[in-house]
Amino acid sequence: MIQNVLIVGAGSAGLLAALTLKKRIPSLTVRILRDPKLGTIGVGEGTTPNLSSLLFETLGIPRKTFYQLARPTWKLGIRFLWGPRGRFDYTFAPQLDSWWGDLPRPNGYYCTDEFRSTDLPSALMEQGHVFPRQPNGCPEVQAWHSFHIENEHFVSMLESLARDAGIAILDGNMVDAERSDDGIRSILLSDGQRLEADLFIDCSGFRSELLGKALETPFLSFDRTLFCDRAVVGGWDRESEPILPYTTAEQMSTGWCWRIEHEHRIHRGYVYCSDMISDEAAESEFRRSNPKVGPTRIVRFRSGCYRKTWVGNVVAFGNAAGFVEPLEATALMVISLHIQSLVDVLHACGQNPTPSVREIYNELTHPTWLGIRDFLGLHYQPNTALDTPFWRRCREETDLSNIHELLDFYAENGPTGLSRYRLPASHTQNDFGIEGYLVMLVGMQVAYQNRHQPTSQEWTTWQQHRAAHISQARQGLTVKEALAYVRHPAWEWNADRKHSTPS
Ligand SMILES: Cc1cc2nc3c(=O)[nH]c(=O)nc-3n(C[C@H](O)[C@H](O)[C@H](O)COP(=O)(O)OP(=O)(O)OC[C@H]3O[C@@H](n4cnc5c(N)ncnc54)[C@H](O)[C@@H]3O)c2cc1C
Repeated sequence: MIQNVLIVGAGSAGLLAALTLKKRIPSLTVRILRDPKLGTIGVGEGTTPNLSSLLFETLGIPRKTFYQLARPTWKLGIRFLWGPRGRFDYTFAPQLDSWWGDLPRPNGYYCTDEFRSTDLPSALMEQGHVFPRQPNGCPEVQAWHSFHIENEHFVSMLESLARDAGIAILDGNMVDAERSDDGIRSILLSDGQRLEADLFIDCSGFRSELLGKALETPFLSFDRTLFCDRAVVGGWDRESEPILPYTTAEQMSTGWCWRIEHEHRIHRGYVYCSDMISDEAAESEFRRSNPKVGPTRIVRFRSGCYRKTWVGNVVAFGNAAGFVEPLEATALMVISLHIQSLVDVLHACGQNPTPSVREIYNELTHPTWLGIRDFLGLHYQPNTALDTPFWRRCREETDLSNIHELLDFYAENGPTGLSRYRLPASHTQNDFGIEGYLVMLVGMQVAYQNRHQPTSQEWTTWQQHRAAHISQARQGLTVKEALAYVRHPAWEWNADRKHSTPS
């Protein structure tokens, strides 16, 4: 029976795993090993809605603590400066998998020329506002908000919560692992200590010390679908720029550039394909479009995942299990999903996992990675905007064979939610769902046959709906105004979600 858990790595993956295991199976002894000299990845991270559910519902972290310690700003979605339209907004609410009762077709059929302010979150993005305003003037916090967080602040909050929960955090450098018939018997530290456990959790980041190095688990590369493998990363201290309530993703000659909004810092990075542009040329293109950027660093990565992430008595989460470029900010989403799957499986087997139970876990979790691979591939293949060698290669070579039924269906029928039945079920079990696919297809103006020709009455009705969103969004609050509310000493969360007016 699993009673002792040792987690290697105290980045966001290791700490979220520790907190979730301890919260949901309190009888476990959970320890974390980390090497302070190696540190954590230290990037600016965007999140998706499921992280909020893990933090506030499963772990019960008070929102006040989160705002005080993690110091997030809010993210309504992603602004894509992308594709032949030049711009469209992806929110975490259903813009296109949605239908007004007084119109005969779903929203996507009306987003031919103009795809803006289709719902309230996208109207807020358009206005640079983050929350609608309640009648009492306060922000109305919705489930479709996510966050931008600096990794250091997030990790430091999780670390403090882990210590409060009785989780031991040990400092040391793992140098070797002793194998057993069923995985790992113990790990060895550089100071000679040997640490044993029933279950080892590998959260050692890209080093993948246990799953990758010690157990030599085969790796599945996504290089037939995703060609980028490096990022040049930098940023600058915010001056007079407003804090935008969304992440920006902007196409570049040989990849794309993100912009993540922190309160005092703007974080940017150019993700590129090193086969097709040198580090020096990527850095100079990055600087040309971001003249304020300070010192930069290059991050190398490979997109893909281990074929199994539970092998013997080792389970991996985070970058130790797999990684894809941060185009849709999926890492924390996958970590949250898979940690909860592990706890569910441990509960179901009374903490006595057999090889066949481990197989079920692997069968449940592996498709998440394949779904993300294909969803990200869809951001590239139909993009006809730029005529550079990289984008030509994306159009010609991106492997989307897993979702060809969806693409064929769309080509015939257009943006209907019925297309969900032409996607593998595993591809919609994440925060994107069919909505994500429809936004990318409509956003990039991918052609389809069965065009709807709205009547003038339909257009009037459509514009009235948009106008209502725009009018509500205009009254909304900026990020700066909303931060002032949640930091006000009289601010109270109502049912840990809403609030009363500060007096
Ligand atoms: C450029 C870039 C941008 C990203 N943007 C996003 C984003 O927008 N959204 C998102 O969700 N994710 C993003 N990510 C992914 C992000 O890295 C993960 O979300 C997340 O922080 C998980 O990191 P981790 O805990 O797996 O690894 P890390 O933060 O690297 O932590 C690894 C831990 O393992 C320990 N360790 C390693 N080796 C040893 C050893 N031998 N002995 C002892 N300890 C050891 C280290 O000390 C550290 O504590 C981005 C990643 C990159 C590279």
